[in-house]
Amino acid sequence: MTGIVIAIDGPAGTGKSTVSREVATRLGLAYFDTGATYRVATLACLTEGVDFAVTSDVAAIVATMNVELVLDPRNPRVMLDGEDVSRQIRTDTVALTVSKVATNLEARPILQEMQREVIRMERDGGMSKGRGVCVEGRDITTVIAPEAEVRVLMTADDEVRVARRSDEGADLATVREAVLGRDRRDSAVVSFHEATDGVHTLDTTHLTIEEAVRAVMGLAHEAAL
Ligand code: C5P
Repeated sequence: MTGIVIAIDGPAGTGKSTVSREVATRLGLAYFDTGATYRVATLACLTEGVDFAVTSDVAAIVATMNVELVLDPRNPRVMLDGEDVSRQIRTDTVALTVSKVATNLEARPILQEMQREVIRMERDGGMSKGRGVCVEGRDITTVIAPEAEVRVLMTADDEVRVARRSDEGADLATVREAVLGRDRRDSAVVSFHEATDGVHTLDTTHLTIEEAVRAVMGLAHEAAL
């Protein structure tokens, strides 16, 4: 018996992190935020002062960085060199730089392989003791875990996505750039606006978090039958 994989992708501000964490908590699964791997890689590069234009230097740091992910949905954390950097990876500096790592075609496969490995581990053991994982990120349903039992593309209107993020603090222009600008740059390497076959679209524009959580749980129950 191997665990279930629930894969959720979609652009920023659709609620995918909040919903994924909640679903993982309720089902006793690990919670894996793949965006955090790109963010911590970016932080490692910023700390090293690497020139992001030199793609092989970026990839070398990504290949050797010392990262540990804590997949507890109630308290997910990211450690870099033994230090908890969960807050640092959420700064505007990281958010505005992360696409440079995500679109680096030497660094990206290294992180993708790391993500596949985490998912494999949670199917058989790991933090969830083999119950499985709710994993979120922009290419999860298509590239990383196309075999996932549940695949969901979360969407929401642009203005709603920006408004949700600005409720978390920060001024509107920065948020607009962090949300819509980042989507535009990321689109160079990942497609996360249209669902492919077998992927359920969940438009959260008019949904509460609870309604979105229930919709994903419903799909998980169907898949487990
Ligand atoms: O989800 P989050 O906003 O934390 O993702 C940060 C960045 O990581 C995204 O803007 C994107 O550049 C990158 N990313 C990606 N593929 C994923 C997850 C995140 O390219 N699966």
